[in-house]
Amino acid sequence: MSNRTFTMIKPDATEKGHTGGILEMINKAGFRIVAMKMTHLSPAKAGEFYAVHKERPFYGELVEFMSRGPITAAILEKENAVEDFRTLIGATNPANAAEGTIRKKYAASIGENAVHGSDSDENAAIEGSFFFSQLEQF
Ligand code: GDP
Repeated sequence: MSNRTFTMIKPDATEKGHTGGILEMINKAGFRIVAMKMTHLSPAKAGEFYAVHKERPFYGELVEFMSRGPITAAILEKENAVEDFRTLIGATNPANAAEGTIRKKYAASIGENAVHGSDSDENAAIEGSFFFSQLEQF
């Protein structure tokens, strides 16, 4: 069990002005922000980040969506971070997301679902280092 996870506030939530509201939910749930930046992924970079989904039918749509506007990337710290953050964001499809979750409140659809959360400690470390050097993690 690691105490860090990685998140992105996706282009849909950024466009709608939900960055502040999502960060407030993250802080209120007890996560400490240990790295954060706003950036705009190129299609190539978005494709690289989601390479594990290359064979999925929605890969092209996902890459296009994730590169259409700015995102906020962050590393979060809390005991049991990966699992607790997955609980906080809710199901991939907001129609199935529990009350009180970020996706229930802010996500529009299974594709445009407001936030990313790492699904394992190993991926949290890989994804965090995709965006942040050691000097940028506090
Ligand atoms: P997550 O771990 O809950 O983010 O879900 P997955 O790892 O299964 O999928 C990664 C991301 O791909 C999701 O967060 C969505 O943005 C997108 N995605 C998943 N399923 C679909 C789909 O059926 N259609 C589209 N357009 N995007 C999808």
